[in-house]
Amino acid sequence: MTSETLNTEPKSGLSAPSLSGKTFEVSRAASFEAAHHLAPKDPNHPYGKLHGHSFQVEIGVSGVVQAGEDWVADFAKLGDVLKGVTDVLDHAYLNEIEGLELPTLERICVWIADRVAVDLPRLTRVTVSRPSLSESCTLRLGPTS
Ligand SMILES: [Zn+2]
Repeated sequence: MTSETLNTEPKSGLSAPSLSGKTFEVSRAASFEAAHHLAPKDPNHPYGKLHGHSFQVEIGVSGVVQAGEDWVADFAKLGDVLKGVTDVLDHAYLNEIEGLELPTLERICVWIADRVAVDLPRLTRVTVSRPSLSESCTLRLGPTS
């Protein structure tokens, strides 16, 4: 289900308080495994050797709940959009992907944002992390609506 509207008619006969005008951020995460190497100034630095990580990506969509609606975005749509990028990145050698020749967390954030913003115009955040290393990087995007 990817509809962005909900039936807000209460089923129980109780009336739910309106969310109209409140701003929320909703987010969804997915994981991928990938290999990469970086280009450190010291050629003997371990980042320069081919190695792999378990990555997590989280996208955030922010906005005001529109009158007559009960959510900012459909989590199912966030999941579909995330799958579109993790299908490309999972078990990939990131350096071989166009735009990720130097795959730092910062560049991975931008690469993902460029692709998911097409389907999620209210995208306001992309976080890419390596949980096993307690490392993360967040790209913040301006509110678009
Ligand atoms: Zn690495």
